[in-house]
Amino acid sequence: MLSRMRVGEVTPEKAREFVDSWEIYRRDAQNPLWMSPEELSGLQAHNLRKQVELAARFSPYYRELFRREKVEWEKVRTLEDLERIPVTPMEAYLRSPLAFLLVVDPPGELDVTYEITYTSGTSTGTPAPFFNTAYDMFNISLAMRRMAEICWMTPRDTMFNLFPYGNLPHIGFYRTVHLASLLGMKLVNALTGRDAPGFPLHRSLDEALELAAEHRVTVLAGMGRQERRFILRGEQMGVDLSSVRIVLSLGETVTEGMREEMRAHLPGEASHAFIINGYGFTECQGSFVECCESGGNHNPAPNLYHLEVLDPQTLRPLPEGELGLLALTHLDRRGTVLLRYLVGDLAALERGTCPHCGRAGERLVIRMGSTYAVRADKVIRVDGRLVNPEAVKNQLAGVRGVVEYQLVVEKEDPGDPLSHDRLTLRLSVAGRLRQDLEREVVDRVREAVGITPRIEYVQSPEIYDPSRILKATRIVDNR
Ligand SMILES: [Zn+2]
Repeated sequence: MLSRMRVGEVTPEKAREFVDSWEIYRRDAQNPLWMSPEELSGLQAHNLRKQVELAARFSPYYRELFRREKVEWEKVRTLEDLERIPVTPMEAYLRSPLAFLLVVDPPGELDVTYEITYTSGTSTGTPAPFFNTAYDMFNISLAMRRMAEICWMTPRDTMFNLFPYGNLPHIGFYRTVHLASLLGMKLVNALTGRDAPGFPLHRSLDEALELAAEHRVTVLAGMGRQERRFILRGEQMGVDLSSVRIVLSLGETVTEGMREEMRAHLPGEASHAFIINGYGFTECQGSFVECCESGGNHNPAPNLYHLEVLDPQTLRPLPEGELGLLALTHLDRRGTVLLRYLVGDLAALERGTCPHCGRAGERLVIRMGSTYAVRADKVIRVDGRLVNPEAVKNQLAGVRGVVEYQLVVEKEDPGDPLSHDRLTLRLSVAGRLRQDLEREVVDRVREAVGITPRIEYVQSPEIYDPSRILKATRIVDNR
């Protein structure tokens, strides 16, 4: 039984041994993740040239963009040449998704539209359709199998699909079905979600729990928040979830603390489960996954997707490891095709061989709190540094003595708009000496956001007065 994968427990030798011990992985001779860096960049450049040519010929959006901006697309020969192409704002795609659909003429056998999934539409509220051809489906299938390989799943596992079965086809539910099918593992769909009038189809959380226990499921796949609720409720009901060994958790809120909490409420062997904080989005039709906890989120298909991290102001590529706007370029797609598409998230990445498992390709790395990515519009800027209020919240959640807190951003000199920004943490404390607590809090905030805050002590109602407002205001921007 495989248990929790900590950084340091995973080595390239162990990863290779795992691959070699399963026929389904061993026979994947084309897997780009095990290519040498030279081989991989050759493949990526080859795919990119073909993709850009297809976009120039058959994509209504890029044909028009290349003409209008006089983009010399023939000169895009390698990934380094990508800067010749302007970025694609997310709004452009959400506004007219059909303009990004390739109309290959004449169509080949695999160019038929096979499936449509929808973006979750978190930033605008409007979900956009994303088209897959048969060619895309087969490529996605390979990517899913490689993703399962990275996170140590095997054909002997039993997958429990906790993604909701909703009224719009979403990758969460459907890619989980594909993942299980590709490995030949058993699959149980929880089919949670809300019934549409006249369609009594869905299971309640309690029914889903009974189902999971009955089938002795070993892998949970779903949104982190929902899995947490599932595990806590399971404990309450006394449902036996001890067979769970892997929890694939998606969503930006899956922090280190949440992983620990889930483990603490799982029974028996499952309390050592490997909890993966995946990074999934429709435009990549699957999830980036970890080979070990917090060890980086692997792009499972560097032959299909290329990521850049851009300076939020200049939109120029940032050096490896720096935090910026994530941009995605499709390298080998035939349905919806996006080039240098701004996903709307802030993240950091590293390229080259993974120091843990030894695979090639890029990995998202943690630079803000304990999460890989955060919606760009949730972040505030303090003297050019990006601060994620969620990360502060996670850091302070476990500190004994902190009753309420509030972050205040203001100018050092309120009369001078060009003066430095100042970050103040207002705290209300109980049951602990201020000087003991202060050091811990300052350290934690510095770790979360890279800034040392000033501390100001206040009484709770100054931050949160339940008789006046429903929720505490955690961040105040006085600039
Ligand atoms: Zn790795």
